[in-house]
Amino acid sequence: MVDKAIAEFRAALRSATSVMVLSGAGVSAESGVPTFRGAGGLWRRWSATELATPEAWARDAGLVWEFYDYRRRRMADVQPNPAHHALAAFEARWSAAGRELELVTQNIDGLHEQAGSRAVTRLHGSIWHVRCLRCGAVTPNRDVPITPAYEGAGDPDPHAHARRFTADDLPRCACSGILRPHVVWFGESLAEEDLGRAVAAAERCDALIVVGTSAVVYPAAGLIPLARRSGAVVCEINLSPTPATNGVDYHFCGPAGVVLPELLEGLPEVG
Ligand SMILES: [Zn+2]
Repeated sequence: MVDKAIAEFRAALRSATSVMVLSGAGVSAESGVPTFRGAGGLWRRWSATELATPEAWARDAGLVWEFYDYRRRRMADVQPNPAHHALAAFEARWSAAGRELELVTQNIDGLHEQAGSRAVTRLHGSIWHVRCLRCGAVTPNRDVPITPAYEGAGDPDPHAHARRFTADDLPRCACSGILRPHVVWFGESLAEEDLGRAVAAAERCDALIVVGTSAVVYPAAGLIPLARRSGAVVCEINLSPTPATNGVDYHFCGPAGVVLPELLEGLPEVG
């Protein structure tokens, strides 16, 4: 039996022309992607909030790359889960029917793209891209280790022998500039172009699906009230209520990998 609220939101989707999805860490967690945030999320003695910062980079870029190299190693074998697949399949049917879908994600793991999603705006960048500090070029990069110097490095154990990395060990652009992870660090602004796309999608959409994010961090958090003010019906899919729950029309409790396939199955109905 399909839940009444699910049936209602499906009805909203049926009449929608434009749909936006805002996804966050909860979707990736079901694939086993470690976040290094919150309790127990430490790498050595640091949390992501301590190493994913411009200050940490300025202090010790070699250490920051060691942390990212470890994360890339951990993410390299991670596979998209049923939530990613449901969204990608939905996009294919939806756009074939001439309707519009914008997937805005806070995740940096590339799993939406790996599952086949195309219209993806990555608010926080991508762990599989690097950016040159000299020429600004952004390029895909799946090298693990990131340079030969990082072979065997990255042990998360707090008692691990800490290696020192020098500027010679860091990855370099063809222009010889130093490459950094193309991710938005704590304390940095989102790329204006990405945020602009997300804002435009929120203003345009008839329905917004918020999934796997507590959506408390601005500016992403502002997208939900913006979509509602612009007339969208909003649902949230999470394991438990979040600070955003009061501001949405529907809250679906459960794993994204279970709820999304049910919510999107067979939509839009054509013919
Ligand atoms: Zn360069």
